[in-house]
Amino acid sequence: MQKKGFPEWGLLTSIDLFKCNPKTIRDKAKIQAYAEKLCNLLKFKRFGETEVVHFGSSKKVEGYSMVQFIESSLLSGHFANASNNAYIDIFSCGDYDSKKAINFTKKFFRAKSAVSNVLLRKMGASAGEADRIFEIPNSWVFESYGLEEGRTTGIKISKELAMEKSPFQRIAVFETPAFGRMMTIDGIVQFTEFDEFSYHEMMAHPAINVKPKVEKVLIIGGGDGGVAREVLKYGQVKRLDLCDIDKKVTELSKKFFPSFAAAFKDKRLHLFHMDGFKFLGKKENEYDLIIVDSTDPIGFAKSLFKKDFFKKAFGALKKDGILVSQMESVYYDRRFISKTLTQIRAFFPIVRYYYTLIPTYPSGTIGFAFASKKYCPLKDYNPKKPSKPLKYYNAGIHKACFALPEFAKNAFGRGV
Ligand code: SAM
Repeated sequence: MQKKGFPEWGLLTSIDLFKCNPKTIRDKAKIQAYAEKLCNLLKFKRFGETEVVHFGSSKKVEGYSMVQFIESSLLSGHFANASNNAYIDIFSCGDYDSKKAINFTKKFFRAKSAVSNVLLRKMGASAGEADRIFEIPNSWVFESYGLEEGRTTGIKISKELAMEKSPFQRIAVFETPAFGRMMTIDGIVQFTEFDEFSYHEMMAHPAINVKPKVEKVLIIGGGDGGVAREVLKYGQVKRLDLCDIDKKVTELSKKFFPSFAAAFKDKRLHLFHMDGFKFLGKKENEYDLIIVDSTDPIGFAKSLFKKDFFKKAFGALKKDGILVSQMESVYYDRRFISKTLTQIRAFFPIVRYYYTLIPTYPSGTIGFAFASKKYCPLKDYNPKKPSKPLKYYNAGIHKACFALPEFAKNAFGRGV
């Protein structure tokens, strides 16, 4: 969970080039030409000429250094003759295509290999701390979740398949060597092919296997279709409304995650693209089950974790309905979880926390709130048969997932 949002200050692209063409990096005119061409390519307005000076008191660092001011900040570079490596930094307050910059730079200096890092710097973050670090091929995604607390999760990526900015968020899809394909939103891991089943199954199956009749379901968020795929494994579900604010998430999921796509072909699924809070509007007594599969509680997702939202969800549920909501990490977000469970308890008589194991999320776990008007998740366990096999959920998991460690029991209050 990312706690604060800061306005963007600028984009820094650092490119380390290894084994460059020795002639190019020793040629002042060529380095000047590089700066000029890069500025043209990225539409940077240059201020003054490119400064290139020879530097270095020892053989190890000896070579040219370059600086070029631009209207929105500067480019700099250091070219080390001893290794034929080069270290380029491009910083601009305006937006630019860092991928284009990296590809052009690698090509220009004919580097044998390169490592790049892109950093979105933000106003107001404490010194040296970037709020969001993201994603460049052959590099790592370091989640912004927890950066302020001094922790992050790193996943190596091998290829960028998509990077799109919607009116709401920046959505990326990567190939990764360890976890298959992965989607991130604003630098935060949403799911990977490796372990998505654990999250998606656990959002859907426990509640469906408690309430005897589940015919009409609403998913808020979840535009990727993962939870929808699980809900639709039950023949008794007659209608599923799916409301995600961002249609780009659905488009990219359909394109890159074929195992989710089947859900969108199911005639029972009705897709809406709007704010989930607004979608609930004045709905009364309509759904058997509401599942909130949203991004972390920041920005426009915040409204889905507020008291007003739980009140509306309570009203939109039938008299024996169940609400399940994404509820962060039992290790990292205890205060948030306690506060939110208390808010839910203002409306629902039965409220429990349960969790699942998922290696690609921070702390390797993610939890859920189970809020019910009538049924107890354990006493009313009522197993049903899904139409397709599951990978995570079973009877044993159903019982075990509601058992909390001592530290969480104390923090979250009432257990089953
Ligand atoms: N499993 C994920 C996680 O917690 O990392 C969540 C996956 S899903 C992609 C989250 C979705 O919630 C996104 O597609 C986002 O557009 C949607 N979302 C966030 N706030 C929303 C809101 N207020 N109304 C509807 N959808 C929302």
